[in-house]
Amino acid sequence: MTQYWTQPKTALVYADELSQYQLSPEHPLRPIRLQHMHDLMRASGLLDLANVASPAPRVATKQEIETSHDPDYVSIVEAISNGAIAPGMGEFGLGSSDNPVRPGIYETTALCVGSTLTASELVTSGKADVAFAPAGGVHHHAMPRSAAGFGIFNDAVIAMNAMVEAGLRVAYIDIDCHHGDGVQMGHYDSDQVLTISIHESGQWLFPGTGYVQEIGVGDGTGYSANIPLAPYTQDDQWHTAFDEVIPPLVRAFKPDVLFTQLGIDTHFQDPLTHLSLTTQGFNLAVKKLGGLAAEIGKWVAVGGGGYDLSAVARSWTMALASMANFDLPDQVPAEFNSLSNLTTFADIPPVPTEQQYLDEIQTHNTQTLNEIRSLIFPKFGI
Ligand SMILES: [Zn+2]
Repeated sequence: MTQYWTQPKTALVYADELSQYQLSPEHPLRPIRLQHMHDLMRASGLLDLANVASPAPRVATKQEIETSHDPDYVSIVEAISNGAIAPGMGEFGLGSSDNPVRPGIYETTALCVGSTLTASELVTSGKADVAFAPAGGVHHHAMPRSAAGFGIFNDAVIAMNAMVEAGLRVAYIDIDCHHGDGVQMGHYDSDQVLTISIHESGQWLFPGTGYVQEIGVGDGTGYSANIPLAPYTQDDQWHTAFDEVIPPLVRAFKPDVLFTQLGIDTHFQDPLTHLSLTTQGFNLAVKKLGGLAAEIGKWVAVGGGGYDLSAVARSWTMALASMANFDLPDQVPAEFNSLSNLTTFADIPPVPTEQQYLDEIQTHNTQTLNEIRSLIFPKFGI
């Protein structure tokens, strides 16, 4: 791992409104997760650090949203948000169990996108070395003309469009358990944005894409990398895949900005997925990304999936501490013990999978890495 900033100027871009919009009563994405996270960050003293600022997010404009979404789609989201009945909304992916709609959804999503834009602007202007917008990133499945996988407007694509417009090259690293298909699609033909997604293979998990062979088109050929992993991949195996692909590709690409999506639905207790990472495995990834970011000089981070409340609160608190270069104590403050039966930030690792299954996982992942080495690495001269 390379040298990190000693005392990075760190920004947490968050507002309480971002934890109050519930998609539907039974929806697995519970925005309360962000409130628990923010409370835990505060109780851990992170928000009082001299090098951590808490700027308010701005709201994304319709014009900004339309840099990556069809105006017909944007207008229908706006109409539904204002209480209109939209009979044709199904063709835009709206009104499904994954993407239910109700009044206010446009405004809430525009604020979420705005939080990512605020983080990006703080970093590109040099006001922050690293800015974290934890409400962002969860829209990484949203497509130009449709909602998908809990995503409405793709904040990462919108923010990176603005950076490319300003002449910046961006490396996007998505460590969510699901393939970052909407972000990949948003920059699939561009050589200005390198997208790398490490995820549970689409063979077993939504959205069913993210194979090694998806390497981009036209000018973007070679600038889309996917690392699909076998279910039950654990910390060590996940980090082997990370180490072998992500640092060499990012260094060869020489970006101006590192943009990371930090979904924590890779956690072994996550109810929607099947990877087996611990909070400490996740945080080690954040530290490695921080090492790369320090070489580049600019780091924008967003949240993403994560459906176990304790894992989300602990992981993203650990992430902010790593960004600010602050050592958290081992113990979670006592008032948070009711979130789970754990009293520590680090997990007690899950019972190891039997050797036979570990070998099967390794065989799958090794094949993935070999394919990436032969398909993508030569385009970067590595
Ligand atoms: Zn996810």
